[in-house]
Amino acid sequence: MKLPNIIKTHCPHCNAHTEHDVRLDKRSKEGAMKKGRRKYEAIKRGYGGSPRTPKKDVYKVGKRPVLILTCKVCNKKHQRAYHARTKKRTEIE
Ligand SMILES: [Zn+2]
Repeated sequence: MKLPNIIKTHCPHCNAHTEHDVRLDKRSKEGAMKKGRRKYEAIKRGYGGSPRTPKKDVYKVGKRPVLILTCKVCNKKHQRAYHARTKKRTEIE
């Protein structure tokens, strides 16, 4: 899928519609010291097994890219939830 280089959308910092530079990124690695991860490790400790059923290996074709939008007015970045799974490579024109 092809995406435009510049998107005009809402900036939460300026609270207005401004032009944004679009950049593609992957999901960042999960932090080891986040609250959910610490709680999960605490539950797994000691007697008894895992509270969640283990995930099966599934071959997934589609990727879920993350859009990083940089506001041209305030230069702050925010993410756009990009829900579509794409089989073809996502690229920016
Ligand atoms: Zn802004």
